[in-house]
Amino acid sequence: MAEDYRQMWTELGLDLPSHDALLGVLGQAYGDIYLAQKDRPEGMQYFDFVMSEVHGLRIKELRDAQGNDRKVIGSFCVFVPEELILAVDGISVGLCAGTEFGFDKAEEVLPRNTCALIKSAFGFKLGKVCPYVESSDMIVGENTCDGKKKSYEILKDLVNNLFVLDLPQMKSEAGKALLKAEYQRFAKALEELSGKKITMERLKKGIELVNLKRKAIHRLSDLRKNNPVPISGLDALLINQVFFYDDPVRFTASVHKICDELEDRVKQGQGFRAKETPRILVAGCPMAVPNWKTPWIIESSGAVIVGEESCVGERGTQWLTDESGDTVDKLMDNLVERYFQIDCAVFTPNPTRLEHIKELAKKYHAQGVLHYNLQFCQPYQIETGPVEKALEDEGIPVLRIDTDYSQEDAGQIKTRVEAFIERIGDGR
Ligand code: SF4
Ligand code: SF4
Repeated sequence: MAEDYRQMWTELGLDLPSHDALLGVLGQAYGDIYLAQKDRPEGMQYFDFVMSEVHGLRIKELRDAQGNDRKVIGSFCVFVPEELILAVDGISVGLCAGTEFGFDKAEEVLPRNTCALIKSAFGFKLGKVCPYVESSDMIVGENTCDGKKKSYEILKDLVNNLFVLDLPQMKSEAGKALLKAEYQRFAKALEELSGKKITMERLKKGIELVNLKRKAIHRLSDLRKNNPVPISGLDALLINQVFFYDDPVRFTASVHKICDELEDRVKQGQGFRAKETPRILVAGCPMAVPNWKTPWIIESSGAVIVGEESCVGERGTQWLTDESGDTVDKLMDNLVERYFQIDCAVFTPNPTRLEHIKELAKKYHAQGVLHYNLQFCQPYQIETGPVEKALEDEGIPVLRIDTDYSQEDAGQIKTRVEAFIERIGDGR
């Protein structure tokens, strides 16, 4: 760490020995997985820096902003509109966690057969190791899967200010009306917390900022269509993960900067791997920092990941919000239209997701799709069947992986991934 942040972490109530252990594990994994890659784009240095300061400088920035009357809003889902948070001059941070740290404590309040994403969020809170949770002025939960929905009933007594957003489960007109009513209720809660009114101008500015961030990611995604692909899937995933933590303006500029460099690489025919490298699309559950196990296995087995059909990826970033409109109500409608398109597996039925995965596989010239499930995630695990069928009907091979945050199954996953890569590499 560039500075000594221990005083800050103590003030936030972190358990310093546990937190040191977490940073140790994170640093080791980052070195082994990220820094060990060859010929990374220079632009990744910025994202390496963000990661090295993810519990340091960024937290200091959040605290400084709070000193200037800004509020920090933590959330667990891409259905929480950052546009509304920006409209009250707030700062949005992602709280999803990707390591099994603190699972023993989480399992004291949650069943063991809860998905790793939920257990990890509880482990971070109960183990007092997450400065983002402790810095949040409001935490937003959402009624998506049953695991999250019910766990918020427990979380509400563990954190200061939990706001639970109800979400529709069907893509109907009634569902859309519910989403709008809930976004209005959330907007009001944000206004009360911040003491700032959401005006048309502020909301429009928020929409523009988030759209710019998404457009930068779209540019990065487009570059990954090239063969050879100019950036590793691991690095692209990291950029998508940093999307949830960084200052939006700085993030957007940094993504464009690396895209300039990647464009040069494409012009020179320079790739992360040779042209013949098998190309894989990853689909399924979100991968929160530092959940890099499966992508690392894929790329260390000789393939390249060309896209993510995931909330840490295209499902979270693909649509822009319409910026036109002269009233708050019209802009709220635009937000609802944009977010209502998200095809999370908690919706039933969810046919657009199947179409979308097929489109992505073709757009990124993927030779196969790896469907990634967290164990005990019923929505995505059950939806894997229809996804497999839809892809196989198109002649696109699929590999289904059900896993968690432990390393115990890494060898077994590697064996299956290697066999899959061999199969798609042969065009069989
Ligand atoms: S997978 Fe569903 S519940 Fe999870 S972050 Fe995405 S939209 Fe939210
Ligand atoms: S991964 Fe699945 S079970 Fe876990 S929080 Fe997301 S939707 Fe729920």
